[in-house]
Amino acid sequence: MPTPWKISLHGGHSGDFCEHGHDTLRVMLDAAVEYGYSTFGVTAHAPANGKKFLYEEEKTAGLTYVELERTFSSYVQTVNELATEFAGRLEVLRGAEVEVVPEASFAANAIKLKKTYSLDYLVGSVHWVDEIPFDTSQEDFDKAVANRGGLEPFLLRYYELLGEMIEQVKPEIVGHFDLPRLYSDGASEHETAGVNRAINDALQKAKTAGCILDLNVSALPKGLSSPYPAPWIVKQAMELGVPFSFGDDSHSSAQVGANIKGGRHYLIDQGVETITTLTHENSRLVKKQIPLH
Ligand SMILES: [Zn+2]
Ligand SMILES: [Zn+2]
Repeated sequence: MPTPWKISLHGGHSGDFCEHGHDTLRVMLDAAVEYGYSTFGVTAHAPANGKKFLYEEEKTAGLTYVELERTFSSYVQTVNELATEFAGRLEVLRGAEVEVVPEASFAANAIKLKKTYSLDYLVGSVHWVDEIPFDTSQEDFDKAVANRGGLEPFLLRYYELLGEMIEQVKPEIVGHFDLPRLYSDGASEHETAGVNRAINDALQKAKTAGCILDLNVSALPKGLSSPYPAPWIVKQAMELGVPFSFGDDSHSSAQVGANIKGGRHYLIDQGVETITTLTHENSRLVKKQIPLH
């Protein structure tokens, strides 16, 4: 039986539609039913807009932007079919995780993607600063930081860009809010007065745009001190009344549901009482609060 608070609105990156994913989408959805999810949002990576923005493994596989578009289109067809097939056992939401590159056109691209494919929703994520990827390796992270002249200026730009993305794309979900911790967890720069102001600005924008924050538990198996976002950000979000959903950020069936229980305990420990999901009601997608207890 599905458990109401067992939801993930960020994940389902499957091997049939993502070069760095494993298992088919169907196998992942079977795993989601098995875990007891009530809602599972599938958020395939949006196709890169330009050769420069392809993932390394996509370049290695010799893929082009045109092929990525075709893959995305067959993803949408498959997820549409599977959502119908799984109805009654699992609410499958059809989404995409969008990027902030190219900086000049990402928002228009994201909005167009959602419209073209009639997606249920978007996860808006920042994986690039100054069009340099920073979550792919320590080396890439160090490069992106050096380009800004240090960790604090890098973080200031990261949160500024996150705020711009939120204002312009208005994604239903803001992905892994403090992702730069991946390669700099514990650094004091994350909590300077300036960075905190930048965090608060981005949170204010999330509130205005009606976004939900992705309580992303993929940080836990990577050895980070907490899921994304960190406790001091959870506290600020709570004070502002910005809600959370869970995201397992699964890239294989083994990762489906992994660490969601840890995420629930983490939120409860911070004093968060409810999780917010997206669900279809009278064929409209609405937000719904669910108690964590
Ligand atoms: Zn991925
Ligand atoms: Zn991501």
